[in-house]
Parts: sequence; C-alpha cells; structure tokens
Amino acid sequence: MYSEKLQLLINGRWIGEEGGRKGEDVFNPADEQVLARLPHATRDDLDAALDAAQKAFRSWKKSSPMERSKIMRRAGDLIRERADEIARNMTLDQGKPFVEARGEIMACADLLDWHAEEGRRIYGRVIPARAENVRQLVVREPIGVCVAFTPWNFPANQAIRKIAAAIGSGCTLILKGPEETPSAVVALARAMQDAGLPDGCLNLVWGVPAEISSYLIASPITAKVSFTGSVPVGKQLASLASLHMKRSTMELGGHAPVLIFPDADVERAADIMAGSKIRNAGQVCVSPTRFYVHEKVQDQFLERFSANIAKVKVGNGLDADSQMGPLVNARRVEAIDGFVQEARGNGSTIMCGGERIGNRGHFYAPTVVFNPPEDSRLMTEEPFGPIAAVTSFKDTDDVLRRANSLPFGLASYVFTQSSKTVTQVSDGLESGMVTINHLGLALPETPFGGIKDSGYGSEGGTEAFDGYLITKFITQFE
Ligand code: NAD
Repeated sequence: MYSEKLQLLINGRWIGEEGGRKGEDVFNPADEQVLARLPHATRDDLDAALDAAQKAFRSWKKSSPMERSKIMRRAGDLIRERADEIARNMTLDQGKPFVEARGEIMACADLLDWHAEEGRRIYGRVIPARAENVRQLVVREPIGVCVAFTPWNFPANQAIRKIAAAIGSGCTLILKGPEETPSAVVALARAMQDAGLPDGCLNLVWGVPAEISSYLIASPITAKVSFTGSVPVGKQLASLASLHMKRSTMELGGHAPVLIFPDADVERAADIMAGSKIRNAGQVCVSPTRFYVHEKVQDQFLERFSANIAKVKVGNGLDADSQMGPLVNARRVEAIDGFVQEARGNGSTIMCGGERIGNRGHFYAPTVVFNPPEDSRLMTEEPFGPIAAVTSFKDTDDVLRRANSLPFGLASYVFTQSSKTVTQVSDGLESGMVTINHLGLALPETPFGGIKDSGYGSEGGTEAFDGYLITKFITQFE
C-alpha cells in the first residue's frame, strides 16, 4: 500500500540501502507498523552530493529563466497527475487526513507554478551615474550551492518551497528531508527529475539530522542554508551558518495569538478557528494557540469553540470521515499530555479532550483549556499539537502587550468589525503575518515568514528568491 521507494538521490542516481549503508524504519503513526526502510547517506554520499551540486551549479546558473520555468511547470503538472498516490503515501507516514494531504500536494504544484513565473522576473537595475560615460548596473545572481533541512509536519510543502526557490533562481540544492515522513519528498524529487531537471541540481539525502547538517553547513562548497523547524534547532543551525559566513533563511516555530474583539462575528470566529486548530492535528507553525477573547464575548466564544472541537472525528487519515489524524510520533503525544497534566494541576479548566485515544497509534483528543495562568507552559511554549488555550482580556493595549510578550513572532489572528481596531492591532502586533477575519496565510503569491525567535527570511511572494540571490554591482567607464 505504501508505494514510494525510499531512496537517496545523488547526481541523478537513486540509491537504496545497498553497499552496506545504514538506514531506519519508517512507521505509520496510525498503527505504529513499519512501512518501509529509509537509507542513510554515508560521508562519501554527502561528499558526492556536494560535488554534484557544485558541478551542476556551473551550468545551471547559466540556464535561461525560460528553461527553468518550463521544467518547474512540467514538474507541477506531474505532481498534479500523481497527487492521489503521493497523498496516500503521505497520510500513511505522516498521519494527516487524505484530503489534507492531497490539498498539500496540489499546493506544491501551485507553488511550482508561481516560482516558475516569478523566476522569469528576477531583474537587476540601472543606477544613473554622476559622470558622463559611466554605466552603473546592479545584477542579481544565484548564490550557489544551497543546503536545506525540512520538517515532518508539511513534508511536501516545506520541501517544495525550498526546492522551487533554489532551482528557480539558478542555484543547486542538497535537501535533507524529514526522516519520519519521507515519501512525499522522494516523490517531489522524482517529479523534478522526470520533468527534465539536470542531474546534480537537486540531491536528496537522509540520515542523523545533526550529523548531516553540521557536515553540509561547514563545507566550503555550501553557500546558503535554509531550515524549517523548531527554534532551538534553528538557533543552532543559524549560529553554525554564521560561523562559516553562510547566508541563512530560518522558518521557525510560533505560538500564534488570536484576538477576538467584542464587535467580532463571534460564532464565525469560533467555527473558523476550530477548523484551523485541528488542521494537521495542530502540528502547524502558524496554528492558532493562544486565544484572547474579550470578556464580553468570552462565554459565547468558549461554548461554540469547545463544542466544535469536542465533535471532531479523530481517526486513521485514510478513513473518509476522519477530520483529524494521529500525531506524528510518540514524542508529540507525550508533549501534549505534558501540557494537559500541567493544566490539571494549575487550576485551569479542561473544556474538552485532555486524553490519549486508544492504545495503538498516536491519537490524542483535541483539547481546549480555559484560563491557564499567563506564565504556564501552555501559554509560553509552542504546543505544536491539538491543544488551544483560551483566556480573556479587557482592553486593546492590554491584549497587545500580552500577545507580544513571547519571543515568538510568526502568525497572529484578529477578529473584529472595527477598522480602527484593525489598524491599531495590525500595526501593533509583533508578528511576521497578521490575518484578519479569515484564514489567508501561506499562499504561493504571499510572503511567509516570522520575526523575533520565529526566524528570518520570507518564503513565497515576490520575496521568494531574495535569500537565494546575491546582489552584484558593476560600474563601467566607456
Ligand atoms: P526537533 O527540534 O527535534 O526537530 C525539528 C525538526 O528539525 C525535525 O524535522 C528534525 O528532523 C530537524 N532537526 C533536528 N535537529 C536537527 C539538526 N541538528 N540539523 C538539521 N535538522 C535537525 O523537534 P521535533 O520533536 O521533531 O518537532 C517538534 C518541534 O519542532 C515543535 O515544537 C515545533 O516547534 C518544531 N517544528 C516546527 C516546524 C515549523 O514549520 N516551523 C515544523 C516542524 C517542527
């Protein structure tokens, strides 16, 4: 049933566990059964990938944007054709419901289309000179060999953002995908290869994350590092990158505040936020997590939101009626249970959920916690799971202060009908993205990224290529 053959891709060659390579088992989080073996890259494999990426860069950087665009569009079409199979495999190793997995795969094709078009418009500029006969040009060139590390929560989406930005700007890439959920990344690499991407432009490796990242980042061949994942790992990789003077893009965690004002359409907010909360079992960096509800509408919101969450159908992602699948692994179940145990001990009210479901598979009931203390772990650490903290506020300055009080700054959500409040809070929120009265984040054409501990650099939008290009100034007399 799990139809993806898990392999390394180095210089256009697919490699399995042959040659004495080590590997690891990949599990289905819904039943904890082994799905397949994933081969690990040896040191020689990493050297071969670096060498291949360096050689491929020499010609790929000179390829025309039209050629790159055609390959990416073709890969997007192949991904659309293969979406059902890729999504089924992703549900098997990641756990999310098939509809969500399929949506993620289709979004990958859209992301490729966007980068294919936008990559044709990587322009330079001419700066008027102070003297006659002087011409001053600014050109933007691909930075070189990039290395990227992507996480297990959106295995396809997080990987394609880095693939499309690197390849579309004329760079080459070594990607280490998520070992726990590898199938979609392998499928994307196959689609890029089948679409005509030359050998060595995209290389795929697996292994022990810290060993691979420290080796690849330190290599003199590597010019740029891109990471999506947790804040602590991001800080480690960013400091390693800066030690070697490598450019980096860091898309890290968040703890998104949701501000619900008394003039909001409260029931609509409760419905939209419940759907958003359970998406991917809450294992989403922009997942709404800290709900600040104005005291006048607190009861109304809490009742509707908790009722929505309590009726979510949790089950195997391949079952058509499952609205939420298992968590990705036992670590996440323990982490969420830790937040719940803390809540039970500190006087918070568990409105619904609060326990593991069954004893096979990593299922956890989606949970709403009311009134956790401001300094509790739930209110201050990224939960990254199906748990929401709801608390109340009285005035706008106070809620802004509390929303901004954490080191995170990724996404924030606002519900209000007042244009004055919209202006005040969208200016005042310390976050890379603010979405007001709807869910509008993470489209190919809009920039995605955080500030503060949530990282730096945007993916998507017209900013998508910025991290992959260098600016060169050329001045010429006569
Ligand atoms: P973790 O910190 O162990 O790992 C996070 C990711 O980084 C994983 O994909 C892992 O393979 C990778 N990683 C870990 N150490 C690495 C290293 N030295 N070099 C390269 N890659 C490395 O956490 P976890 O238990 O797997 O995930 C839970 C946490 O991860 C959450 O709290 C959340 O903050 C974060 N996370 C964030 C995102 C995101 O989209 N920003 C995605 C997935 C996970």
